[in-house]
Amino acid sequence: MNTTNPNTFAPESRNLLGINGFKLSKGNKVTVIGAGAFGGWSSLYLLRKGFDVTLVDAWGAGNSRSSSGDETRVIRSTYGGNEFYFDLNVRALSLWKENQERWNKQLFFNVGVLWFCYERDTPQLDDSIPFTKKHKQEYEYLSPDELSKRFPAVHTGDLHHAYLDPFGGYLKARESMQQVHNAFLSEGGNYIQAYVRPGSTESDRMSFIELSNGEQIKSDLFLFACGSWLGKLFPEVLGDVITCTKQEVYYFGTPKHESELYDKLPAWIDVDGKDFYYGIPGNQQRGFKIGVDKRGEIFDPTDGDRIANPNVLSNAKKFIEHRFPGLRGAPLVENRVCPYENSPDGNFIFQSHPEAANVWFLGGGSGHGFKHGPALGELVANSFS
Ligand SMILES: Cc1cc2nc3c(=O)[nH]c(=O)nc-3n(C[C@H](O)[C@H](O)[C@H](O)COP(=O)(O)OP(=O)(O)OC[C@H]3O[C@@H](n4cnc5c(N)ncnc54)[C@H](O)[C@@H]3O)c2cc1C
Repeated sequence: MNTTNPNTFAPESRNLLGINGFKLSKGNKVTVIGAGAFGGWSSLYLLRKGFDVTLVDAWGAGNSRSSSGDETRVIRSTYGGNEFYFDLNVRALSLWKENQERWNKQLFFNVGVLWFCYERDTPQLDDSIPFTKKHKQEYEYLSPDELSKRFPAVHTGDLHHAYLDPFGGYLKARESMQQVHNAFLSEGGNYIQAYVRPGSTESDRMSFIELSNGEQIKSDLFLFACGSWLGKLFPEVLGDVITCTKQEVYYFGTPKHESELYDKLPAWIDVDGKDFYYGIPGNQQRGFKIGVDKRGEIFDPTDGDRIANPNVLSNAKKFIEHRFPGLRGAPLVENRVCPYENSPDGNFIFQSHPEAANVWFLGGGSGHGFKHGPALGELVANSFS
């Protein structure tokens, strides 16, 4: 859940979603490596374009090591003055709805997103307002009094106002990825569970990739959507570009006599300008979820133990007791460590290998990529057809 970076750059400064003309023909073989939000949705949309798609993942769609493997993720349009991501979210939201209807399975929960603002001017929100009007997805401005009346569980003493985005909410994460994967299989995709190593490059092409089961795969296009692993897989190209940090989320138990009060709260984001705590109270009955967007320590997504840092947990508890006083002393019922796959400026990365025209990278979700999955998948598939 990155709330900071996408607001700090101009889209033109380093927007690597610049697509050039590598075109494939129907029936060409495409291999996607990584079945997370980026690779999973891309493989589905590439398949729907008529390509012969094979998806490979080391541990499976929505696995616990992946960024997409948590229970839930926030979906919200707000990106300050960055219209590109606002629009991408609008498209993604519409595709989430379209696909869940097609599958008859609810993945998007329209509980709204509540933004806690400390100052009168909060560019992160204010600069998105023109886009909300353009798309007829306007936010509601709530004074502290109105906020207290609507959401009595929230402490409003230090807030100037709040905005409620009634169009956002949360998505099931791990379950969505498994659903996308099942759709990919039932629509005719091939899947292999194996760890991939890039093959050698000759005459501007990668001739094959190597799988941990000993197989080699040849392909017209290799799309590496390996999340936090991208930097290590291509150290010479992405080693300094994608860094992986340890991010923690905690699920707290709500009071037994008013659990419904908390479950019905919108997703929320605290715009304090430093920690950016956020949460998903409903969280599919797994507990009142809170996370912190501030970057954690550098992390190894394959071998790192997923153990909570006591200081990060203690600070999260303090915050929750402050913002939701009724949760003072709430027990921790679950927690999770998830990797952020950070790009230098929070922009997504979609670019070709400088020495192999048939190798493309898709990544850099940087704590805000999950919700965009279907829109990115569509964009990727369109760019090759
Ligand atoms: C704590 C936390 C909170 C977040 N909150 C939000 C939020 O609220 N809203 C939002 O939109 N986004 C959020 N994000 C960001 C979002 O989850 C990620 O941007 C998104 O899930 C990234 O998807 P991905 O497919 O790039 O990576 P991943 O989900 O990590 O998928 C990569 C896949 O590649 C596979 N793989 C890697 N290397 C290999 C290999 N060599 N061979 C084979 N397979 C390989 C892995 O097994 C994995 O399945 C959050 C992230 C975290 C960590």
